[in-house]
Amino acid sequence: MSSFLGLDIGGTKIAAGAFTHDGEKLAQHVLPTPSTYEDFLAVCAKAVAEVSGEADSTAPVGVGLPCAIDQEKGSVISVNLPFLADHFFRDDLEKQLGRKVRLANDAHCMALAEALHGAGKGSPSVFGMTIGTGVGGGFVYQGKIVEGPNGLAAEVGHIPLPYHEKKDGPVVRCGCGAVGCIETFASMRGLERLYKFVTGKEANGPEIVTQVRNRDEGAIEVLDRYYDVVAKAMSVVIYAYDPEVIVVSGGGNDLPLFYEEISQRWGQYCVVKELKTRLVKATHGPMAGLLGAALLWRD
Ligand SMILES: [Zn+2]
Repeated sequence: MSSFLGLDIGGTKIAAGAFTHDGEKLAQHVLPTPSTYEDFLAVCAKAVAEVSGEADSTAPVGVGLPCAIDQEKGSVISVNLPFLADHFFRDDLEKQLGRKVRLANDAHCMALAEALHGAGKGSPSVFGMTIGTGVGGGFVYQGKIVEGPNGLAAEVGHIPLPYHEKKDGPVVRCGCGAVGCIETFASMRGLERLYKFVTGKEANGPEIVTQVRNRDEGAIEVLDRYYDVVAKAMSVVIYAYDPEVIVVSGGGNDLPLFYEEISQRWGQYCVVKELKTRLVKATHGPMAGLLGAALLWRD
């Protein structure tokens, strides 16, 4: 039987993977992301060829992208990969590969992987949130990605942060063009900005974590405020989707007591104080996006 093939497209690298029906990884190959469209199609084809076995010669490919997807056109709305703009990427990739292709947003792929084979397995509604350089989201209901006609469902990173207070840090313009988005506060960049706002100094995420572990008072204050910010952001997810499970992946996972602190705080920002929502760590880590892309063809 042929395996499930996926491509996870990032700004710096392209990963291809082959998985069994149960989500077990059979092969993986990673190549750098080129900067022109023609090279991009060729690198995608090379990566897929590296992971597909003889039984997979016509197997379809699922592709996760850091973009909103226009499924009607098979194109992407991309600020992260500008060379993809104005191309019918799905059709072009199908021709290049000689295989059928499905596209999805990468956070949607992560949510699908965690819902079917990860931390959300067995729950009918799972929200996946990626907290890294940006904030992404994906909602999976009854095993299916909820995408919406604009491909924007679950893109909570670009909703303004609710209950904003001065202590949450400066209100700045987001990459999407709007001001005060959740992403500008709750991403790792948001944490670094908050650190500078509170301490007047520069530090990256891992450095802040080290300082917290060394009981640095400034860093502890920053993390305390950051957890309030994330709890506020989570209240948006709960009000909009009310999932059984929220699965988190990305750099936020390395922060001490992240899950305990957020779960204790989010009731402050919801009318229901004792929330039944489970907040859990992604089990597939950075692999979730690739697995989820492959799973786009599971039905
Ligand atoms: Zn935004």
